[in-house]
This record gives sequence, C-alpha cells and structure tokens, in this order.
Amino acid sequence: MQRKKVIAANWKMYKTPEETRAFFTVFLPLVRDHDRDAIVVCAPCPDLEAALDSARRTNVAIGAQNVHWEKEGAFTGEISAPMLLALGCTHVIVGHSERRQYFGETDDTVNLRLKAVLETSLTPILCVGEVLEEREAGLTEDVLRRQCTRAFNKVSAKKAAKLVIAYEPVWAIGTGKTATPQVASEAHGLIRAEAAKHFSQEFADHLRILYGGSVKPQNATALMSEEEIDGALVGSASLDPKSFAAIVKY
Ligand code: PEP
Repeated sequence: MQRKKVIAANWKMYKTPEETRAFFTVFLPLVRDHDRDAIVVCAPCPDLEAALDSARRTNVAIGAQNVHWEKEGAFTGEISAPMLLALGCTHVIVGHSERRQYFGETDDTVNLRLKAVLETSLTPILCVGEVLEEREAGLTEDVLRRQCTRAFNKVSAKKAAKLVIAYEPVWAIGTGKTATPQVASEAHGLIRAEAAKHFSQEFADHLRILYGGSVKPQNATALMSEEEIDGALVGSASLDPKSFAAIVKY
C-alpha cells in the first residue's frame, strides 16, 4: 500500500517569531517543488502567525503542538481547535510524551483532545510510545495497545479518516538513541493492527504512522525506507532549516 509520507517538525518550546521567519527564509527555497511527501511544521503558539505568514501559498503546512478539548471557556493558558483553525493551522500534535510526562496528560485527556480535533478539519498527529522501563520490562505491546485503545475510544472510522499517528518511543526522544528501523517497524505493525481491530483493515491500510525519536539527516533514509514507516516527527533536528530540509529530502 503506497501512503504519502508526512515529515513533521516539532519545535517544542524553541524560537521567537523573528527566528521563525528566519527559519522559513532559508527552509522554503530548499524544499520548493518537493511534493513526494507532505511537510508540516508544528510551532509554539506565539510563532504560529509568523509561520503561517511565511508558509502561505507554499507546500508547507503549519500545525500547533497541543489543543484543548473545549471550544472555549475559563481554561487559562489553553487554546482550542476553533482558535487554531481561525489562525489557519491545518495540523495539531495530540498527546506528545512531554505533555504526558510533565503536564499530567493521560490516556483519557488524549482521547478528549483527539475527539475535539476530529470534530474539525484539523489533522491530529496522535503520539504514542513506551518509556524505557516499559520496553525493558517487555511491556511495549501492552502500552501501545492501551494507548491506542483509549485514544480511539468512541472515535469512529469516518471521523478519524484524517488521523495520523506518531510512534515515539520515549527513550529515543531527545536522547540521540534511535529505534532501529526493525524495532520501529515492529511497533508500527502493532499500532496498525490495533487500528484494524478498532476501525477496519481498510482504515489501517491507509493510516499514516510516523516514527519520532532522534531522527537526523544521517538516519532518515534507513528509517523512511521501511514499508511500515510513513514519515517522521522530528524534534531537535527540525530546528535548523538545512537539517530539516535534508530529512525532508532523505
Ligand atoms: C519529538 O519531540 O517529537 C522528537 C521526536 O524529538 P527528537 O527528534 O529531538 O528526539
């Protein structure tokens, strides 16, 4: 099954609006005419306007890194899906491990966020992945199954048509340790099987599952050559325009 890959940047809490514009000034000419893969940059909220402005009428889509499940309300510091849409965002990361680890995100709140996003035209990039202790204890399968099952709770195949999943083993994020293409492929197969069980085989066949965790220009080709890997979610190596362009053009 040929699935168009998605190469997405997660800038985390880096860059000012000025630095955002400077990034695009270098990055856009490097990826102009690249239509083999979809390119997405998920920027911090204060940078979204600069990113959207820089990437207008280009082949680069802009996303946010988190979203609340309510449309509006007394939720200080939160941002809703309709707000992201009004700005012009097309994508949003849901359930990143750093949100789970540092900000109390649970499988249930991930499910709430995912359902809220799927009520809109935004494309969610749903993150799942095990921590090192879970992998070492042989619990990777259980964790991925649980995270998928809970995230998919009360989500229909029709609503989830745009869903993109990122498998991000937490032990590989920001550590320089990358899952081998085989280890990543195995996890992707498991996630795809969960999607087939919950939605349908046809849904699973079309589902894009990205790999994230220390993707660099040096390892991108090997990872992206795996049939099961439908793109990448890139943290630190996406901050530099030349390095992210090299990953896009692996
Ligand atoms: C991430 O934050 O989603 C990520 C994969 O980070 P890094 O590429 O730095 O490991």
